[in-house]
Amino acid sequence: MSQQHAFQAEVAQLLHLVTHSLYSNKDIFLRELISNASDACDKLRFEALNDPSLYEDAPNLEVRVQFDKDAKTLTITDNGIGMSEAEAIEHLGTIAKSGTRDFMSRLSGDQKKDAQLIGQFGVGFYSGFIVADRITVESRRAGLKPEQGVRWTSSGSGAFETEAITRAERGTSVILHLRDDASEYLNRWKLKQIIGKYSDHISLPILMQKEEWDKDKGEYVLLADWEVVNSASALWTRPKKDISDEQYIDFYKNISYDQEAPLTWSHNRVEGSIEYTQLLYIPAKAPHDLWNRDKKAGVKLYVKRVFIMDDAEALMPTYLRWVKGVIDSADLPLNVSRELLQESRDVKAIREGNTRRVLSMLEDLASKDRLPTGEDWERLSDEEKKQAEADAGKYARFYAEFGVVLKEGLGEDFGNRERIAKLLRFASTQSDTVSVSLADYKARMKEGQEAIYYITADTLAAAKNSPQLEVFRKKGIEVLLMTDRVDEWALSFLHEFDGIPLQSVAKGAVDLGKLQDEAEKKAAEQAAEAFKPVLERLKTSLKDKAKDVRVTSRLVDSPACLVVEDGDYSMQLARLLKQAGQKAPEVKPILEVNAEHALVRKLDGHPHFDDLAHILFDQALLAEGGLPEDPAAYVKRVNALLA
Ligand code: ADP
Ligand code: MG
Repeated sequence: MSQQHAFQAEVAQLLHLVTHSLYSNKDIFLRELISNASDACDKLRFEALNDPSLYEDAPNLEVRVQFDKDAKTLTITDNGIGMSEAEAIEHLGTIAKSGTRDFMSRLSGDQKKDAQLIGQFGVGFYSGFIVADRITVESRRAGLKPEQGVRWTSSGSGAFETEAITRAERGTSVILHLRDDASEYLNRWKLKQIIGKYSDHISLPILMQKEEWDKDKGEYVLLADWEVVNSASALWTRPKKDISDEQYIDFYKNISYDQEAPLTWSHNRVEGSIEYTQLLYIPAKAPHDLWNRDKKAGVKLYVKRVFIMDDAEALMPTYLRWVKGVIDSADLPLNVSRELLQESRDVKAIREGNTRRVLSMLEDLASKDRLPTGEDWERLSDEEKKQAEADAGKYARFYAEFGVVLKEGLGEDFGNRERIAKLLRFASTQSDTVSVSLADYKARMKEGQEAIYYITADTLAAAKNSPQLEVFRKKGIEVLLMTDRVDEWALSFLHEFDGIPLQSVAKGAVDLGKLQDEAEKKAAEQAAEAFKPVLERLKTSLKDKAKDVRVTSRLVDSPACLVVEDGDYSMQLARLLKQAGQKAPEVKPILEVNAEHALVRKLDGHPHFDDLAHILFDQALLAEGGLPEDPAAYVKRVNALLA
């Protein structure tokens, strides 16, 4: 008795999309189905940890790929966990993961890219319909009786059927009834080639029947013996010297769903209090959800080659959540849970080892980012020059994608703060590109300069044109320009670099220390003294807006600017928090005026003193990216003066 079921609406829609948008990348269906077979075997191995009887009498897990030219079918069989009828209905008829809509909205029309997406969103099974006009799945769940098997059939339009069958072997067969234009898959060579390309990293044996040339028939015929057509060993367990770059890259693409090659990778056996194998990759491109701090880490955990879990967040700190790879340890218990992972001392040691490894991979990339020059370049052999050229610019690429997240590490990983600080790059008043390291800055510091100066702003243009920079520009002192939202937060954890304090130019009184000569200091003091009565009046006029008003030497061309006290939130951060709907403490800025400026000089005895005072304040606010509290009043005041 077969039963009719309708696909969940989303599935129907998806099926249509998949078959119409991926036909030029047909081959990927095999990767997806083999990946499901391999997942099913992983699941069996995992469940069998607690119940070895699930292996029944077939403990060797494997995948078989078989075709039948006459019936025009291609069958992928595994002896993994299998499905009960209820599971088949659920797993092959609905899409549980909310990612589907996301997947569909991200289809770009570029079939190559879209093909990469499909496995990422838990919809791989349906790719079978790219090449098949009907799919039959026969399955029996491990542990159930032979009569409790299921047959699932669908032609990939709105509905599917299921019925109970008897199936002696545990596991699943996916039988593809190939479309007329997909007969190329009835060919051993073709299938083997696809398996080699996409599925070589699968640690299970993938078997195909051998073939022999039949002289009489004038064609190849299949034999009864099977042979393994993949490497069938987990890549990370093989010695480094036996693995080609291409294999490393293919493995990365398979575990990351990234179609671009990684920037670099590192493969090690780590020995110490706990032993493990570590294979870590630095991607070239950030994933679309990099921003999500809840996003799970990209590292898979294996214990004695048994797959335990994806996204093992305990193995990587949050700021390195974009690293992809595999950790395999023989020293962890097989039944390790997420909770246990969080608490285990061994896991902590692995996480620390991983962190150090990633930081040193980054340091290595950073050290090769610029091509050697002069003698250093001449010394290199042709081979080394080629390598240097290939490595140059990689760190800049990395930083453009992941630099912002790396900064989170300043607040998260105190033990490695210094190493992280060295890896940071910034734009500055001497460089529009984000390429200045703190070490570069330090090396360029002026004689007598006692701090590393920086400014935070919403945009590079706002940072560059900020009045607070005027005196620094005049004296030729470099200022780092920071425009990432996390900068201020992150920098609050970094008080100094290599013994030099970091100082925001928009906070506290400007103290150029030895950079200001005695005459300048004297002149500033005298100006302040002479200006005192005006200052007092300004304070009274602006008492609701400004915490204080004082004379400054940081301005050259602008009449006034706003600063906050050391330790206060900057105006910019307060604005950001407000925009994000978060409660920010009310920051009352300090108005600093340039006593030499023509406009400021006019204040003394001006008939519209009060208007001018407010205009000065509001303009200073505008100049640093804020808005006057009462824009209409501001306009009125300006107009009164203009008239
Ligand atoms: P995903 O593999 O990302 O979950 P798929 O569309 O590839 O998404 O597969 C959907 C689900 O169907 C799987 O999660 C699994 O529960 C079930 N499934 C598919 N193939 C098999 C198989 N060979 N053995 C057991 N279950 C399978
Ligand atoms: Mg899948």
